Amino acid sequence: NRNTKRRVLILMSDTGGGHRASAEALRAAFEDLYPGQLDIMIVDLWTQIVKGPFRNLPKQYMFLQRNPTLWKLTWFYGVFPISRCITEEFSYWIAHERVKKAFLMYRPDIVVSVHPLCQTLPLRVLKDMGIRERIPFVTVVTDLGSAHPLWFHRDVDICFVPTNRVRDIARRCGISIHKIRQYGLPVRPAFWKENRDKFAVRNELGLEQVPTILIVGGGDGMSGVGRIARALACRLSEEFSDAQLVIICGRNIALQQELSGMRWPLPVYVKGFVNNMSEWMTASDCIVTKAGPGTIAEALIRGLPIFLYGFLPGQEAGNVPFVVENGVGFFESDPMRLANRVIQLFKEQSHLVQMSIQAKNVGRPLATYQIAGDICDLLWLQRTKPPISSPLEVS
Ligand code: UDP
Repeated sequence: NRNTKRRVLILMSDTGGGHRASAEALRAAFEDLYPGQLDIMIVDLWTQIVKGPFRNLPKQYMFLQRNPTLWKLTWFYGVFPISRCITEEFSYWIAHERVKKAFLMYRPDIVVSVHPLCQTLPLRVLKDMGIRERIPFVTVVTDLGSAHPLWFHRDVDICFVPTNRVRDIARRCGISIHKIRQYGLPVRPAFWKENRDKFAVRNELGLEQVPTILIVGGGDGMSGVGRIARALACRLSEEFSDAQLVIICGRNIALQQELSGMRWPLPVYVKGFVNNMSEWMTASDCIVTKAGPGTIAEALIRGLPIFLYGFLPGQEAGNVPFVVENGVGFFESDPMRLANRVIQLFKEQSHLVQMSIQAKNVGRPLATYQIAGDICDLLWLQRTKPPISSPLEVS
């Protein structure tokens, strides 16, 4: 019922796979905690609302991921106050009317941002409309070891951070300590609700009952996956008579086609974008991945040792020490050296088991419920305040 349900607007953008995954995780937790009481809308601010020159943001991000130097420039462009200010003014000028219309259409009772580019613009528009005081605005930071300053806006009501490292960045960016809550990263329920063992899940996925290595390159199947897979396949077939590789290419269709067409010296399962990542993780003994925060948080909950082969400069750089210093994995960018280290660990099983136990210790399976619970507390506090006017009142 539109009149009684509280309306939660989750703002994100499909740059990579992590922001949507976090938004979906929060949606699931809201629905579990308050069944039938909330209308949850997940909206890509830039492609669904602002559009215009920003409609291709996810594609541009995919391009930048493959060109780390350009990515680095973009990252720092957003850090320097002058370039940041010019871009913010430009996007406000282009977008504020559309964002205003969107608020009148969605009529949120609370706004939750899970993206670094979803703070400044919507907060400013809410203020222009004179309704900021009535609509709580929270940010859920979905980076683990480093985070862009754009994540942190002093005017938010709560800023959820997953780790000490990100909490410290939030403080440096001027967020008051009273507004910061630290639980972990929101992760979809399948990762923390799974109670089958790896053997059962392997059977269901049609895998063999042999040591299994999962290779993932984030939602966009970041380049490098092919080289890593070839090196691992080569070394595994030399050292083990039975082992298998699962390669998840995400939205990188070209990579999926290339790897599917190859001959492999051991069983290899090549997949495109999968919606059951938790099952592939449960079926595996370790994960080889770029340092994506979502994938790392999920793998920790599933107790997988994490071997990193790459990271995006700036944004993901801090995830490498996070993994290494917590004793849950290592970083090695050279495919052959990485393959050798993985093989060595598979030979010394005890170290692998140790890492797996440590991963479970570091994982934060309750974070999603804790964040969703706090957001709802804030929402119920607003209950007595009148909602935004209906779309019919828009001139
Ligand atoms: N993912 C997925 N299916 C795929 C590939 C990735 O569901 O085929 C999910 C993955 O489980 C994780 C997210 O996409 O939740 C990737 O987020 P991460 O932060 O690791 O990297 P990003 O893609 O955002 O750079």
